[in-house]
Amino acid sequence: TAGGRRRLIAGNWKMNLDHFEALTLVQKLDWALRDAKVDLDAVEVAVLPPFTDIRSVQTLVQGDKLALSYGAQDLSAHDSGAYTGEVSGQFLRRLGCEYVLVGHSERREHHGEDDALVRSKILAAVRHELAPVLCVGEGLESRQSGDHVAVVLAQLDAALEGLGADDVPGLVLAYEPVWAIGTGETAGPEEAGEMATALRGRLETLLGAPAAQATRILYGGSVKAESVAEIVAVPDVDGALVGGASLDPAGFASLITAA
Ligand code: PGA
Repeated sequence: TAGGRRRLIAGNWKMNLDHFEALTLVQKLDWALRDAKVDLDAVEVAVLPPFTDIRSVQTLVQGDKLALSYGAQDLSAHDSGAYTGEVSGQFLRRLGCEYVLVGHSERREHHGEDDALVRSKILAAVRHELAPVLCVGEGLESRQSGDHVAVVLAQLDAALEGLGADDVPGLVLAYEPVWAIGTGETAGPEEAGEMATALRGRLETLLGAPAAQATRILYGGSVKAESVAEIVAVPDVDGALVGGASLDPAGFASLITAA
């Protein structure tokens, strides 16, 4: 894509597939990508399974030297200690994770994650050499009232408050309009492009031009094999964060091929 950024297609499994099913999916995905002769140097493919699957995915990916990346859907803002039920970034890194979602709208909505916590989680990810995939996106009301760009930029400002380019190496952004997640609705290329360009502009203000140019910006929200090509063709969109359509290996492979 533009600016020498490597395209990234990431599958967010959400709370789907146990560790046996994870092995099957990753194996079949790898076969399907080989069959389709997908150039994995040009497009990076990542899977983001539930925590309990990650050890199995690591064994398969590292054991068979698959050209796939993987990561987690969340992490603790803390590194260790009395935080019952939480998972530290250092444990994820030990399992070979490269990426971790931070601030997905389902975490913000169902688990009360606010901008301050999202910011702490970005820092926790970076402390453990994980690339944070910061998710931002507006709800239906702000899309309808027309303040969607302001809302999303405010999320970005808050998540990166006081931070510079050196504080967030590897940062990836995912623009996911909440009204498009799991609904079958997608933002069109124009809407995705408007937001991606606005986000890159704000990144330049916050982190400087080199970091803004290097940061990959993904679009997410009901991305399908049929719709992915026109989305990733948008100049400031560097890939996709895919939920539902990443759960079927053949379907996800054709989506990747189409991208
Ligand atoms: P979806 O999910 O593709 O099923 O809409 C995207 C996401 O929430 O990351």
